[in-house]
Amino acid sequence: MREAWENRLEAREPPPSLSVSASASEDDKQCVVCCEAERSHALIPCGHLSLCEACSGMLLLGTREPLCPLCRTPCKQALRVFQS
Ligand SMILES: [Zn+2]
Ligand SMILES: [Zn+2]
Repeated sequence: MREAWENRLEAREPPPSLSVSASASEDDKQCVVCCEAERSHALIPCGHLSLCEACSGMLLLGTREPLCPLCRTPCKQALRVFQS
């Protein structure tokens, strides 16, 4: 049962990329940590725009070795991104 389901999934489309949030399409503007606020900060150096202001602050200031929640790259800074 499970195997058939997986085979069908593979045949139709590639598996979703590694992501913290399970439901992708509607949440892709939301912070991956709190899933509430809009993403506004890109992590440096990996460049993932995945966090809101509050969560980027918590990640950088509240953890000893901040890691990008998407790719686990150690990050030193977050850059505020303005989207038009
Ligand atoms: Zn957040
Ligand atoms: Zn990243």
